[in-house]
Amino acid sequence: MASEQALANTLKRRGLMFVLSSPSGAGKTTISRMLLEADADLKLSVSVTTRPPRPGEIDAVHYHFVDDAEFDRMVAEDDFYEWAHVFGHRYGTPKGHIRSGLKEGQDCLFDIDWQGTQQLIQKDKQDVVAVFILPPSIDELRRRLEARAQDSAEVIDARMDRARAEISHWDAYDYVVINDEVDTCFAKVREILHAERMKRRRQTGLIDFVRGMMG
Ligand code: 5GP
Repeated sequence: MASEQALANTLKRRGLMFVLSSPSGAGKTTISRMLLEADADLKLSVSVTTRPPRPGEIDAVHYHFVDDAEFDRMVAEDDFYEWAHVFGHRYGTPKGHIRSGLKEGQDCLFDIDWQGTQQLIQKDKQDVVAVFILPPSIDELRRRLEARAQDSAEVIDARMDRARAEISHWDAYDYVVINDEVDTCFAKVREILHAERMKRRRQTGLIDFVRGMMG
């Protein structure tokens, strides 16, 4: 049994792009962090942004922080999978090694909004697994945003407006999970990841494996 397990795990497999979206405050950042800690095969796609760092944010960990000129250069050189304007700043996903990583079986986690998700789906639908995290209620979402105490009332109002707009796109996702309890939500999201890895089309080593088995 143990050796069967080891064999299954060595089968060649194509990586996937695991997208988590939610309105800010619904918990996707927490869930992302838990997934990355629990799963060594998952690597975070770090976005590029022109937004200045918030206290505690680290360059190349939370974002690659760049100025407008650098962002313009990357756009001109077609360095982005996708990019978008959010709250007066620009955010983008650098193509980097994502595509070659997928070939090698590397899974990549994306913490991006609806617009960004649509663009990934348009370019690479087969590799994208899109999960939307909903808050248990609008009141709870506001409470969580206020509890962060990092933003002014105007910014919170703007985020609430944006949250409603973001939530309206729930039906563009493969999976929707309600985050009323973080551990339960995490467990559900992890099950999705595990099951998606077993999709036949991602298990590129299966043909050889079955051929070998049948002699
Ligand atoms: P924040 O400034 O709070 O970190 O992020 C603001 C918004 O930008 C969030 O909704 C976040 O999901 C989105 N965002 C972050 N990185 C990217 C990206 O690479 N592409 C797109 N389209 N949105 C992003």
